[in-house]
Amino acid sequence: MKVPLQKLPGHRSFELSVEYIDSLTKGLPMRTILGKEAGEAGQASAEVDFYVNEEQIIGTGQLDGWVELGCSRCLSNLRHTLSESITACFIPKAKLPSEEEAELDDEFTSDSEDTYGYEDDEIDMEPVLRERILLAIPYAPLCSEDCLGLCTVCGGNRNNSECGCDRKVIDPRLAALRNIKV
Ligand SMILES: [Zn+2]
Ligand SMILES: [Zn+2]
Repeated sequence: MKVPLQKLPGHRSFELSVEYIDSLTKGLPMRTILGKEAGEAGQASAEVDFYVNEEQIIGTGQLDGWVELGCSRCLSNLRHTLSESITACFIPKAKLPSEEEAELDDEFTSDSEDTYGYEDDEIDMEPVLRERILLAIPYAPLCSEDCLGLCTVCGGNRNNSECGCDRKVIDPRLAALRNIKV
């Protein structure tokens, strides 16, 4: 996802393959929750306009696509839509403040999130798109706002059928905990 500086300013498209999204989301709890039910991890594309201001490169655009996640209540597969705006500022790597300097300089820290370094006469959009996607993944995704979740007694998916279990019964292990005096 590298763009040579001599090709800028201009418009660029980036395709994020199923394999790329897979490597990005591997190990995230909302992915691993799917186990062997996991399908294609997702797909996305980004359209970005680049502007050049002396040695500063500004990229603005839009990323659209989807990622497959597991519902945090019923564990079933869902497609989470990605529709994210992108803003990134690239400056020469040598001019990026070191971590210590950035900590001292509040002004830089406040807008450093969108600032990336470049070297070798090319900018790399990969870290920008990676961060944008990871930030867009909800911590506790839901297949629908009113997902009923799994039955705490039999483990069945209550969205598919009502199993009729009596869920008012307190788990004996929890009941024992309640009797502990603190
Ligand atoms: Zn659900
Ligand atoms: Zn049940």
